[in-house]
Amino acid sequence: MKLLIAALALSASAVYAAPSDPIVAGRDYHSCADPSAFRVKHLDLDLQASFEQKRLSGVVDLTVARLAADATALSLDTRDLIIRQVWWIRDEKNLQPLRFSLGARDPMLGSPLNIDVPAEAGAEFKVRISYQTRPQASGLQWVEAAQTANKTDPFLFTQSQAIHARSWIPLQDSPQVRVTYTATIRVPAGMRAVMSADNRTDLSADGVYRFTMPQAIPSYLIALGVGKLEFRATGPRTGVFAESSIVDAAANEFADTEQMIQASEKLFGPYRWGRYDLLMLPPSFPFGGMENPRLSFITPTVLAGDRSLTALIAHELAHSWSGNLVTNATWRDLWLNEGFTVYLQGQIMRAVYGDGREAMEEVLGLTTLRRELATLGPGDQVLAIDLRGRDPDDVFSEVPYEKGALFIRWLASRFGTQNVDRFLSDYFDHFQFQSIATEQFRAWLEANLLPQKPGAVTSAELDEWMFSPGLPQSAVLPHSDAFVRVEQARKDWLGGMPAADLPGRNWTTHEWVAFLEGMPPQLKPAQLAELDAAFHLTATGNSEIAFNWLRIAIRNQYAPAWPRLESHLTTIGRRRLIKPLYEDLMKTPAGAERARAIYAQARPNYHPIAVATLDDIVLKGKR
Ligand SMILES: [Zn+2]
Repeated sequence: MKLLIAALALSASAVYAAPSDPIVAGRDYHSCADPSAFRVKHLDLDLQASFEQKRLSGVVDLTVARLAADATALSLDTRDLIIRQVWWIRDEKNLQPLRFSLGARDPMLGSPLNIDVPAEAGAEFKVRISYQTRPQASGLQWVEAAQTANKTDPFLFTQSQAIHARSWIPLQDSPQVRVTYTATIRVPAGMRAVMSADNRTDLSADGVYRFTMPQAIPSYLIALGVGKLEFRATGPRTGVFAESSIVDAAANEFADTEQMIQASEKLFGPYRWGRYDLLMLPPSFPFGGMENPRLSFITPTVLAGDRSLTALIAHELAHSWSGNLVTNATWRDLWLNEGFTVYLQGQIMRAVYGDGREAMEEVLGLTTLRRELATLGPGDQVLAIDLRGRDPDDVFSEVPYEKGALFIRWLASRFGTQNVDRFLSDYFDHFQFQSIATEQFRAWLEANLLPQKPGAVTSAELDEWMFSPGLPQSAVLPHSDAFVRVEQARKDWLGGMPAADLPGRNWTTHEWVAFLEGMPPQLKPAQLAELDAAFHLTATGNSEIAFNWLRIAIRNQYAPAWPRLESHLTTIGRRRLIKPLYEDLMKTPAGAERARAIYAQARPNYHPIAVATLDDIVLKGKR
């Protein structure tokens, strides 16, 4: 998943005292499943999507291995599911009903589904569960036609990471349980269903789509999208699924995808998933992208027209190695997914677009990390974060991403970039299709990289990186010459140089973001009007530049930007591009009033994950 560039600052309420008993490495505290007793190995889904009822309904058959011979109580994760019936499939013609119960609903974890499995079912058996979702399912968003690109048909998409798969499939919802799956998805004729599986590129006449995913993946990577979608190939193994009004723009924006795959294969080993396609989601998608295997889900806010925001694609693609192939065993180990991915993303971007652009990306990443570290309690600044008792969605910060990447770059500074890349390639090979914890990575590092140059790093340094708050002194910080020039330009303008003389016409998105981010808190109305007149910032079609400009507008009560602020907040649901704007607005009484008015209008169209975050800020006034 990608948050990208700006801060996703946590609320003060997130300062949290961890339990005092020691954490058990590799134990998943966010699932009721006991994968040492039973382990789900395969799913066969058969689901019908009803846009009228906002409901998926049907059955899932789970193939389960009984690992503890005496285990009879199979516990699955669910959240807000209606479970109709459970059977043991003795064979297709012989279904035996099983006793089951739904446990009390935990607000964070949902309700365990407990199933009594008879001993005679043996060491491997299949259960069938008939169920339906509820309209409030946290992992599903039913998007109204008016909120889509074409505005003609509704759209459905899933977001299973971190623990939302359980809101649309009853399963062992833990990143250390990997499953293969097949699915039959029934949608209204004329619409198309796509999944993190083998997607057909033609349209089904009857609205029935069948999928096979033969590679074992964790539950958070099971994904489904349904919409009025077209397909455009962008290469022999790459393409884009999108609504007709944006499909050509998307195919053009992401034309470099094959080149990115080749760059990554050269560094980190073969791409093991067959095809790599992109699904363009409606703007309400709360994230930048989601690395669903074979089919990354992508926000349309990166359609800048000039390929300036394609680092997002490099990021989601890099997850095909770090995350999807070698997976964090628990959400505490998220940095193994995200820190490694930001590092790989950088290596891909460097290979495809050169050092200068990657340097800018890294500086912006560091700026964001520093800003966020200043708002986080010490426990939240640690790579291997203690998440016991907390919702993993609330604690996805820049730390596992940017601090994690700085850790790998620090290793590269000590052992050489080529050696570290080769080490990572071996690591992906060795642990492929496994889920591992921080401690396993550490042992692998100590056995395979450290001996290459004894004494190059100390155990104390590794401890500091993995288990201590803040940024270690030894971090190797990025530098961008282009940003030095941008800073000079900002100084010149603040010193009285006319805006029209700024070199902004040639600036990339990154340079504009850096220029705007570094502005002093207070500017004069005439200064904003002058900058706006010269570069049409209020009217920009680039969502990143708009976001940074709107922050300045809010700080300085720049009224000409109000209509744009309102349209930005009511059309985009990407949490990183809206949350800081609401936070800024809430700082003054007039702003708070504006925030509440806009939020009342926008809230019905936001994703449940965004609503959970924004309710705290706008309705409950938490900061
Ligand atoms: Zn990611």
